[in-house]
Amino acid sequence: MFDEAGMLLLNSESMNPLNSMLAAILPIFPRWLIKPFAKPYVAGESMTEALQHIKVLNDNGFAVTVDILGEHVQTREEASKITKSYTEILNAIAEQGLDCNISIKPTHIGLDISYETARDNLFSLLAQAKNKNNFVRIDMENSPYTDASIKMYLEALIHYQNVGPVIQAYLHRSPDDISKLNGEKLNVRICKGIYTESETIALNNKSDINDQYVDLVKAILNGGGYAGIATHDLTLINALDEWIIENQISPDRFEFQILYGVPMAGRLEELLEKGYKVRQYVPYGEEWFDYSVRRLKENPVIITYVFKNMFKSR
Ligand SMILES: Cc1cc2nc3c(=O)[nH]c(=O)nc-3n(C[C@H](O)[C@H](O)[C@H](O)COP(=O)(O)OP(=O)(O)OC[C@H]3O[C@@H](n4cnc5c(N)ncnc54)[C@H](O)[C@@H]3O)c2cc1C
Repeated sequence: MFDEAGMLLLNSESMNPLNSMLAAILPIFPRWLIKPFAKPYVAGESMTEALQHIKVLNDNGFAVTVDILGEHVQTREEASKITKSYTEILNAIAEQGLDCNISIKPTHIGLDISYETARDNLFSLLAQAKNKNNFVRIDMENSPYTDASIKMYLEALIHYQNVGPVIQAYLHRSPDDISKLNGEKLNVRICKGIYTESETIALNNKSDINDQYVDLVKAILNGGGYAGIATHDLTLINALDEWIIENQISPDRFEFQILYGVPMAGRLEELLEKGYKVRQYVPYGEEWFDYSVRRLKENPVIITYVFKNMFKSR
């Protein structure tokens, strides 16, 4: 059902008004209703479950980045607890020989408490990751955190090579950020951007965002950087794939990335067959609800199923 729905969706560019309305009220629905639809997007609630999913993905040729769900922690204890959980998963990845790095949100490791709290936790994770020959991706949150996240990345880069930022194609500032950051040390994920931002901060027209997305990836690859091309947009994937071939960009300069569970109509396997690296972003943890609602809101067809299911249950 998910695959079929996904393929339909991959051809539908926008939500109709009914789906938009359903998407808006989705967060108030009960967990029991959302859970079956959330399942494909989340690799369980525990580290053990997540490691099992990661192993299966690796066995099928995919690299992984793992994310512990949650954000905006408000105490140092919580931030330390998350940092410890990430340390444990770094150790388990090494022990099990998995092809998997970690993605962390700055507010999950303490950025709302202070810059220093998040930076110290990040540095502790970077030291552990370096020790285990692994890599830390700093996810990008909404625009109040952009400056601090880039600052933290640059500070980390002074001491560690195994770290990379995320740049969101919808932000007006992103071309400038890329031109400042680009170079051999840059390993960046480019995504469109998931948060609601004002017009003064971000592009809000889909085709402008897509154009900027393509320009940013080309700029990285024309410079010295490594690009994580993170999108489910088949038009963008195909356009960039063509450009990469035409420009003889070596496959060790980029990878494609998608969110776990998003149906891609067989395109990922084709990318793997071409010898490209494809990485799946695998989230797990007890805080699966908000994440799943975000994913479901991106998928109008699934929203309709959620509501049909609700009425059936009644
Ligand atoms: C690996 C990865 C990491 C990311 N990290 C960040 C980050 O750090 N910060 C940030 O702001 N955003 C992040 N994002 C989210 C990203 O910014 C987008 O909001 C999201 O991926 C949708 O954009 P898209 O490029 O797929 O294009 P869209 O134009 O939104 O979608 C392209 C096509 O894919 C379909 N699609 C998209 N999502 C789904 C879904 N859930 N289920 C089924 N079909 C779907 C769409 O309906 C459309 O047909 C990340 C995305 C990926 C893939």
